[in-house]
Amino acid sequence: MGIVVQKYGGSSVADATSVKRVAQRVVATKKAGHDVVVVVSAMGDTTDDLIDLANQVSPLPPARELDMLLTAGERISMAVLAMAIGNLGQEARSFTGSQAGVITDSEHGRAKIIDVTPGRIETALAEGAIAIVAGFQGVSQTTKDITTLGRGGSDTTAVALAAALGADVCEIYTDVDGIFTADPRIVPTARQIPRISYEEMLEMAANGAKILHLRCVEYARRNDMPIHVRSSFSDKIGTWVVRSEDVILEGQPMEQAIISGVAHDRSESKITVVGVPDQVGFAAAILQALADAQINIDMVVQNVSAAATSLTDISFTLPRADGQTAMTALARLKDEVGYEKLLYDDSVGKVSIIGAGMRSEPGITAKFFRALADADINIAMISTSEIRISVVVAESQVDAAVNAAHTAFDLGTDEVEAVVYGGTGR
Ligand code: ASP
Ligand code: MG
Repeated sequence: MGIVVQKYGGSSVADATSVKRVAQRVVATKKAGHDVVVVVSAMGDTTDDLIDLANQVSPLPPARELDMLLTAGERISMAVLAMAIGNLGQEARSFTGSQAGVITDSEHGRAKIIDVTPGRIETALAEGAIAIVAGFQGVSQTTKDITTLGRGGSDTTAVALAAALGADVCEIYTDVDGIFTADPRIVPTARQIPRISYEEMLEMAANGAKILHLRCVEYARRNDMPIHVRSSFSDKIGTWVVRSEDVILEGQPMEQAIISGVAHDRSESKITVVGVPDQVGFAAAILQALADAQINIDMVVQNVSAAATSLTDISFTLPRADGQTAMTALARLKDEVGYEKLLYDDSVGKVSIIGAGMRSEPGITAKFFRALADADINIAMISTSEIRISVVVAESQVDAAVNAAHTAFDLGTDEVEAVVYGGTGR
């Protein structure tokens, strides 16, 4: 039998009892005849606690040192799990990201994996050991410094290793039973999705679904690595993330759902540049200033200019964490562009409906907007892709909007299916 990569999130290894439970599962997989590689996150809230600690000693911790500190969280888990497995009579060897061959660029805090050379993992497997790898970290190819992949990055470590090792599957263990049609904490009738395509999952992850790290899904799609999302607290069947051709199981009369799920995101803000002269090049100057500040903007809207003044407003959304940087960058442009003022709004949220089936189905936008209108929800901005429609609404109305969309597209179930075991979604 082949190689299985299993990733356990922070809530699955939160304390000694949990670590022992995970060790049992790992050993069972090994005994079933697989070569097993395990990727672990930091125990419980360790990463948050380490960030708090850093902020107590420095208002702006140097990125290099912060990465060095945070990677310690995963190193604790990997060693403790290796001990627990050893105690069950199996040999386990732990490896840091660097030792496992996870090579990244040098962007501290959000490094990208550029290569995986898992020679030591292959040796450990060949010698019959279980390999345990610290998630979320690597080593920079150029500076040789230790890097981290961004919050939630252990998922990406797991998929990258699975691809490099030619594993059969990458199993991601978390504290819910799989991927649901909406966050079960907001929509209690959310249904578990048995299979979903990489494309749809990418849209879900990019639009706020936190169950999988966005880059892990990108990596899985590029390498065609099936992801199996499951709970480490139950034996339920979980959700498979696979190629779109494989979503519909052969011999099953199931039709492609039009809408697969509803995602929401409360991590963005909206900036409006008021009173911009409606002339060629001004919008470009504004967007260039944001690009130069390394800010990724999401939605952009430019209003028609008022006839009398020929001034227009440009609004866009961006990660809330970049709000201050963006406002500073735009303030510097005031004389050059000659706009009137800047408005900053961080009480917005984004709600998206996602589904490959909407490609061939007219009227989906109308139905979505009707549902929002019936729930008395005002839409501030709209953006779409081939398989997604997103709206920006007031943050206070996000839950209502998610529920309205979920009901309008009949995504719910009569039985409550979702159990959130750990409660943190990690
Ligand atoms: N421990 C890291 C975090 O909390 C990475 C992860 O869990 O994937 O973000
Ligand atoms: Mg996660």
